[in-house]
This record gives sequence, C-alpha cells and structure tokens, in this order.
Amino acid sequence: MSPRDPEADARPGRLEVPKELLERYATSAPRYTSYPTAVDWEKDPGKAFDPEDYPARLAAAADARPDEALSLYTHVPYCAELCLFCGCNVQISRSDERRERYLGAVEAELARLEETGIGRRKVQQFHWGGGTPTSLSPSQLERLFRSITSRFDLVDGAEVSIEVDPRVTTHEQIGVLADLGFNRISMGIQDFDLEVQKAIKRVQSEELTRGVIDRAREKGMGSVNVDLIYGLPHQSRAGFADTVERVLDIRPERVALFHYAHVPWMKGHQAAMDVDAMPGAAEKLDIFSDAIAAFDAAGYVYLGLDHFALPDDELSLAAKDGTLHRNFMGYTTQRGREMISLGVSSIGEIDGVYVQNIANEPEYVTLANERGFATYRGHDMSAEDELRRDVILELMCNGRIGRPAIEARHGIDFGETFALELEELEPLVADGLLTVSSEELRLTAIGQILMRNVAAVFDRYMRERKARGQSGSGTFSKTL
Ligand code: SF4
Repeated sequence: MSPRDPEADARPGRLEVPKELLERYATSAPRYTSYPTAVDWEKDPGKAFDPEDYPARLAAAADARPDEALSLYTHVPYCAELCLFCGCNVQISRSDERRERYLGAVEAELARLEETGIGRRKVQQFHWGGGTPTSLSPSQLERLFRSITSRFDLVDGAEVSIEVDPRVTTHEQIGVLADLGFNRISMGIQDFDLEVQKAIKRVQSEELTRGVIDRAREKGMGSVNVDLIYGLPHQSRAGFADTVERVLDIRPERVALFHYAHVPWMKGHQAAMDVDAMPGAAEKLDIFSDAIAAFDAAGYVYLGLDHFALPDDELSLAAKDGTLHRNFMGYTTQRGREMISLGVSSIGEIDGVYVQNIANEPEYVTLANERGFATYRGHDMSAEDELRRDVILELMCNGRIGRPAIEARHGIDFGETFALELEELEPLVADGLLTVSSEELRLTAIGQILMRNVAAVFDRYMRERKARGQSGSGTFSKTL
C-alpha cells in the first residue's frame, strides 16, 4: 500500500522486500533535491549559466513576481569537530575572528542583493544550515539575523528554522534564537548507541539532546526535527530499534531517517570509517523497515523516502492533500518557491536558473567582499528540464504522477513524450514497485522505499550516463 493511498490510511506498517529485488535495486541514484542534480548542471552546453548574469536574473525576478514570497537559505560552515559520516561543506574551526570575517562577507552579499531590488519580495521560508549555525556566539547570531531581516521582510507566520548541534548549543543561544523569532529547530542524533557514536566520532548523550529540545520547547519553538542515520558502523536491528524508541519518547514533530551515503572518493574523511563493521544491504533494509513500522505504530505519517511527521504537522497535511514539494532544504509545503542562498557553497534557484556560490571558504570571503556576489556556476533550466523536474518531484513528494495534470501544465501528451520511459518502467511494474494506468503512475509501498530507482528512469542525464556505460556509482549514494 502507498502512504498516499486514501484507502490505506497512510499506514505502511512493516515492509518485506524480497532478497532478489534488494539485489537488483540496490544501485546508485540521485536524491533529487533538485533536477537536474548539481553534478549535471554543466552537461548541457546550451544551458550553461554565466554567473555574471545573476544580478540581472534577480532584478527580473523582483520585477516579474513582486508579490511572491521567497525561500532564503544561509550556510554557516563552521564546526568544532569533524563527524566521520559528514557529507556537508564544513570548516573545522573555533576561530571567532574567522567567523566575524565570514559574517562580513555574507553582509557584502546582502548589500549587493539589495541593489537588484529582490529585497522587495518577502520571505516565507527562512533557514540557516551548515556546518553548525550555533557555532556562532549569541551576538553573532543576532548580527546575522538582523543583517538579513533589515533587507528582507518575513511574512507573518514564516517558517524560521535553524540546524543546531546539541554538543555546542547553549541555553542562552536557544533563548536568543527564540527571541529573534526562530520557530523551528533541527538537529542530528544519528544513533544513541555509544559504540556507534564513537565509531562516527560524534558522541552526544541523550541527556544533552533532550536538554536542548526541552529548552527550545520551553521557549515556544513549536517544531523540532531530528535526523537519524542508518548504515553506520556497529548498527544492528536491536540497537537501532532502541534508538527509535528513545526518539519516540522525545516525540519530535518531524524525523528524517537518512541512509548513510558512503562516498569517500568525494568526502575523504569518510575513508576512516570501518566499512567492515557496517550492516549489509539486507540488514539495513531490516533496520529501515523496523523503523518505518515503529514510527507508524506511534502515529507518525510516512512522507516517503526517509521522512516522517506527526499527523497534524503541515508536511503530513500537505502529503494527505498531494501538495508536498521538495527543494534543497528537503520536503516543504512551498511549491516552486524561488530560493535565495547566502554563504559558501550555497545553492539557490531564481528566475528559472540554479546558481551556486563558490565552495572554498577563503575564496568565498574574498569574492563576496570584492564583488558582492560569489556565484561561480549555474544551470539555466530548459523546458525539458522543467518537465522532467515536475515529473520527478511529483513522484518523490506525492508518490504518484497524475498524467492529465502534467499534460495540462506542460502542453504534452504524456504517453508520447515518455514512451521510452513507460517501456523502461515495465520491469519495475512487474517487480511491484509501481502501477501504471492511463490516469496515473502510483508507487506501491515497496516503490516508496525504492522511489529513487523509479525517478531515475525519468532523468535524462542518468540515461545519458548509462549510454556511456556509467552506473552513477562514483557520483551518487546507494539507494539501499
Ligand atoms: S556537526 Fe554536522 S555539519 Fe558539522 S561535521 Fe558533524 S555532521 Fe558535519
């Protein structure tokens, strides 16, 4: 049954995936927080984006859609220590001076943004990620917040969220954030088992984690998200079930249960992980499946892929209505919202263009101070990209693709445009991953877990990769 099947009442229960399917579908594929994925941006020579055009596109977006609210993401890259599983753009530093310089560079970006007029548009979704944003001192947190909100107004009821690391976040910082208007916090737990925590070099007690969450709730932050990761060294079914039980006792509004992406060729520090101590594909699926059943039994709605939320959370309500969306920040209720991004390596989307800031921190600081912008690459979306993105995101977010709606939005005949894809989906239909009718393509419960495999069929760049004899294994994480 699919989580979106009204008759199924969104209760997937425990899932059994036959071993032969597991072997066939444990491949590598993108997570599709964007389409095309960032590694494919420069593949289409006609759509390469000249970073010099970014200010003009911002100005165009300000003029064309003055009343549409924006998403605004700020990246704070600093962490006190490096967790071995980390896949983010981080700088390990405790230097206050370095943080001050960084804030100055973000302010230079903001000043240049202001000149384009984009600040006339309000912000609905405001998020700080990292790195560890709470590696900033209370006065630095306040400085950054005021620098941004003096140029961008928030709409009433805006989502104002921040990632915190309980190991470095003080009660004073939580108080400052709540007073500034942050209403959501997100934090990594990964696993409460001490042996696992030592293996990934991130020891974080349950007491510490609960202390930060309790403080946030006391200060009126209404939504808590926690991240868990499976596939780490020394994890087992019993051990992870214990972690899930302890998380359920905390009862966060949202839970992300990520599959560990082991990509040491991209993230060199991951090579220090003990690969032999990691659970195999079958055990990982058991761990994941047990967790789905446990969250389901505790009343959480499975949003698909790796996200759960309490039934009255707006993501659950959007999932029920079929209006869930996905962007670089993960699942969201905001369809097609343009996103401004600040800070090193951050990715934004404006006026039909994806843009990314330079990923090297010293270069970012220099460029932002000298030119205001530190954009170094981008991708101008073609009509075909827009169509395929729509199809892939519908599948990833709502577990189904309504053919008439796609046809109406893009002026196509679904069967004709995607004849090849429909043919390629036949074995996946036979394997029970999805059903196909003249009205819709709909994921089954197993397909919900393997949705990246289904989505990849609609990815033109994955098709071209395959035609070159490449599997994507050196680029993307495993689907299982
Ligand atoms: S705290 Fe988060 S961002 Fe920093 S190293 Fe650990 S996982 Fe990466």
